[in-house]
Amino acid sequence: MSEIKIPLRDMRFSMRELLNWDQHYAALGYEDASPDVVDAILEEGAKFCENVLAPINQSGDQQGCTWKDGEVTTPDGFKEAYQQFVEAGWPSMPHDVEVGGQGLPHSLGTILSEMVGTANWSWGMYPGLSHGAMNTLDAHGTDEQKETYLTKLVEGTWTGTMCLTEPHCGTDLGILRSKAEPNDDGSYAISGTKIFISAGEHDMAENIVHIVLARLPDAPAGTKGISLFIVPKFLPNADGSVGERNGVTCGSLEHKMGIHGNATAVLNFDGAKGFLIGPPNKGLNCMFTFMNTARLGTALQGVAHAEAGFQKSLAYAKDRLQMRSLSGPKNPEGAADPIIVHPDVRRMLLTQKAFAEGGRMLVLLCAKQVDRSNAAETEEERKAADDLLAFLTPIAKAFLTETGYESANLGLQCFGGHGYIAEWGMEQNVRDSRISTIYEGTTGIQALDLLGRKVLMTQGELLRNFTKIVHKFCQAELDNEALAPYVTKLQELNKEWGELTMNVGVKAMENPDEVGAASVDYLMYSGYAVQAYLWALAAKVANEKLAEGTSEEDFYRSKLATARFYFDRILPRTATHAAAMQSGADNLMSLDAEHFVF
Ligand SMILES: Cc1cc2nc3c(=O)[nH]c(=O)nc-3n(C[C@H](O)[C@H](O)[C@H](O)COP(=O)(O)OP(=O)(O)OC[C@H]3O[C@@H](n4cnc5c(N)ncnc54)[C@H](O)[C@@H]3O)c2cc1C
Repeated sequence: MSEIKIPLRDMRFSMRELLNWDQHYAALGYEDASPDVVDAILEEGAKFCENVLAPINQSGDQQGCTWKDGEVTTPDGFKEAYQQFVEAGWPSMPHDVEVGGQGLPHSLGTILSEMVGTANWSWGMYPGLSHGAMNTLDAHGTDEQKETYLTKLVEGTWTGTMCLTEPHCGTDLGILRSKAEPNDDGSYAISGTKIFISAGEHDMAENIVHIVLARLPDAPAGTKGISLFIVPKFLPNADGSVGERNGVTCGSLEHKMGIHGNATAVLNFDGAKGFLIGPPNKGLNCMFTFMNTARLGTALQGVAHAEAGFQKSLAYAKDRLQMRSLSGPKNPEGAADPIIVHPDVRRMLLTQKAFAEGGRMLVLLCAKQVDRSNAAETEEERKAADDLLAFLTPIAKAFLTETGYESANLGLQCFGGHGYIAEWGMEQNVRDSRISTIYEGTTGIQALDLLGRKVLMTQGELLRNFTKIVHKFCQAELDNEALAPYVTKLQELNKEWGELTMNVGVKAMENPDEVGAASVDYLMYSGYAVQAYLWALAAKVANEKLAEGTSEEDFYRSKLATARFYFDRILPRTATHAAAMQSGADNLMSLDAEHFVF
């Protein structure tokens, strides 16, 4: 089985050459994130992921987590790897110095998460969930809560979870039932059952900080009556050490399709002591900090599985000999040609490459906006970054996980029957990737968020912010002959995107179901359009490097070939999505539920 390599060269391409990372850090005043420091972080992070995490990915899948009397044991090596991760200071990297962090930019944490996820997604979910808990406490916790919990999470000695889902409520959090009764000492007694809680119980850290949604007595119905609480597994002592066991227990672990190394827990809260985060009944607003972190984290999952599948299937396609090339033998001495000579195998390889590298560009573009928002000096600067991020987040989450899953499947397909056999790890990659289009808001829910809240409710403002960036790029490159095919297509897309939005918006005024009927096609269209812009940028950089002369011709030629492939063979998918979204809601809704039979 081929080993995973962290794609440092391509990461540097996206960070430095495409998105001008070094200038970006300097402009935001991140003096410690000098190019040398960033390089050292990339190198060390890659070593840890390749040498420590990747080797326990397949064994972790086969062994899975085990539950006994409420205690969970993670697969062999998971705990030790986490110890090394903490000792190396990785959890603290992108967090504030005041709470024990290293004060480095958020985006460096994103790069590290991609490396971790590519090597071992299941393992990466433990620190990944902690990261969301940290951001939530940082944004909404009191000073005392930060001192007690955030510092431990930043240190990595405690991990975090996100507790939203209940047996009867997943997407619709407005109907959640967990209760929070006030105690005399200002804390709350939390009762209820949460299911599907990732990293909800394990043996990797000394304490777990659950971030839990529950209702106060007499809270209004629906989402306006939800509050947010910290519920630690062990209550902390005054000196910060771990104290008595709290009333939260793990009733069982879910048996599931993939990510077996990650414990998906059923958690029972029986009057567990909890502490309110943020104002009463504003819990969902505060939880959005967690959910937005988790959405970008899940977008990375799409990239991670696409990258892992691509690397392995590329190596296999160069090695596996089957049949002769249609245009004559390419390996005449051998029994057959390597399968990479066949156009259809190349289609599968290039699709994975386009989605892995294109996805990386998009996630890093989002991470850049988080840095800009965090470091903004004026409200105007913050709003500009937040608006762009708000528009791109549902696209990144849903589009990159859909294409990540498609890529994982194509990776398996390149192996033929051997892909279906566990030994090669390709079927694990498919199984592990499947959840990514479901949790943190399904593709359908992200699509409603994009079209409904982000585009139509802002009268198209957030969309226009982005299409203006594309327009500016096209204007600047009008005389660039090498980019002409890309620029022409981008201009057409920009125009069509606005027209499609108008059409759906007009229909939605008469029938709100038109939004739901168009939304997933709209989101996928938007994903392909955003990727087209990024691939055009990549082509521009690659052209310039080749024109200047470079010792890395192969790298830039591969980049250009992938940009061309993307525009010629992937981007035409927008036509199908445009036609489907314009076909209206009637073809979906004309059957009454009672006449909808088999
Ligand atoms: C392995 C795993 C890990 C998870 N980790 C966590 C975690 O750490 N914390 C946590 O709180 N939760 C977690 N979840 C829960 C996850 O977020 C939910 O499963 C997800 O939000 C969907 O909720 P549901 O399963 O109840 O599906 P439902 O809400 O019942 O949805 C069923 C289907 O209906 C569709 N649907 C629902 N409403 C609409 C609508 N208005 N318009 C269009 N379509 C709609 C959905 O898109 C979906 O296709 C995890 C789940 C799994 C399987």
